[in-house]
Amino acid sequence: MDKAEAIRLLKEQHRTVAEGQDFTVDFFEPADAPGVTRLFYAVYGDGYPIDTFYIPEKLIAENRCGNIRSVVARTAAGEIISHVALYCSSAPNPNLYEFGLGLTLPAYRTASAFFKACNLLMQLVGKDGINGFFGEAVCNHTITQKLSRYVNSVETAVEPALMPAHAYETEQSAEDRVGCLLYARVIADKRRTLYMPPSYHDQIGFILDGLNLDREIIYPEAVIEGGKAEIKLERFEAAGVARCTLSAPGDDLPKQLQGMEYELRSAGYALIQFFIDLGKPWSAGMVELLRQEGYYLGGLLPIWFGDDGLLMQKHFVDPGFDTLKIQYERGKNIVEMVKKDWQSLSQKVRKEVITQGATMKKSCERLDTCRFFQTYKGSSLVQLESWFKNYCSDQVASENCERKKILKQTGEPPADNMSPTGELL
Ligand code: SF4
Repeated sequence: MDKAEAIRLLKEQHRTVAEGQDFTVDFFEPADAPGVTRLFYAVYGDGYPIDTFYIPEKLIAENRCGNIRSVVARTAAGEIISHVALYCSSAPNPNLYEFGLGLTLPAYRTASAFFKACNLLMQLVGKDGINGFFGEAVCNHTITQKLSRYVNSVETAVEPALMPAHAYETEQSAEDRVGCLLYARVIADKRRTLYMPPSYHDQIGFILDGLNLDREIIYPEAVIEGGKAEIKLERFEAAGVARCTLSAPGDDLPKQLQGMEYELRSAGYALIQFFIDLGKPWSAGMVELLRQEGYYLGGLLPIWFGDDGLLMQKHFVDPGFDTLKIQYERGKNIVEMVKKDWQSLSQKVRKEVITQGATMKKSCERLDTCRFFQTYKGSSLVQLESWFKNYCSDQVASENCERKKILKQTGEPPADNMSPTGELL
């Protein structure tokens, strides 16, 4: 079953869950899968970007293999009213899970369903291959930050201007790009070596305090090794974010960055992030090289690679530090440290970066929900590149998109495979 078929069935079989019923929280059972998909559909409509949560068989398979560990709150009749999970996402360490996928039917949001589900989920941490978890808490409000503390995770990094405002349109809670705080909690770990980058000695020391990790700290010199740096680049077009993992050092990094940044800026990207393995002796030199290229601190990513990771970032838009709503003192301190590092970049680099960002076009506001864009954005068809460039990445030009015109005229989106020019793929 594909997503379109799953949505058709969800529409056909739509039913309302009666309010005020008793419920129990429990680990996911295969019989819960249809109820979980109904919950996602009830809360997000058909706009949730990951198909798995609309397709019961996929959800069962992902839970069975352990990629997702779901907890649900279910009524006596088996309806699912709340869901939360630990799941494998972007961290290279398979034993570091992400905490999220939390949602509750509106009628049950004042009941304790979600908090009870979180409590049960936390029983998994520290066993069965889940050594720790991290989560991203948005900073256009503080509710998720409070939840992150509720599950005993603490702030370790900040990602200003991470998500475009249109990702939060349904909540109408954001006008500019939305920043996030990264939270982490590690329970099962061992003594590890951490090569401390000279520029971030104090900042990393501050973040480590409170994480309860056993680290042998080595203070290396920032030696820049020759050769070809290896960068694994992952693009998140809809968010305008590129994530790079540095897997080998090399003094050609600035040259590689020039080409990469030019291309990403032209495509309307707002942010490039770098993930660097602090368990590698060469990391200190690469951190210094990135600083010279205008990248600044994001924070620490405990056990990200197995060993700890360092997040560095470069914005092509204003990071908007002053718009971040931060609940706790520790978070405020981390934001201050990061802001200071951003300010310490030479005036020239910052001016260049922000000027480039300011001239950038806004993309089509339907990127996140457009079935054409979401289906084909990773495809290698050359034709798609120019459609994305000529329509999707430019809000003004996107008004000429045939898909948009049809949606406006009929209220229904056209077939997923209809391109912006009206051609069918
Ligand atoms: S295909 Fe059209 S509606 Fe979809 S994102 Fe591109 S411009 Fe927007």
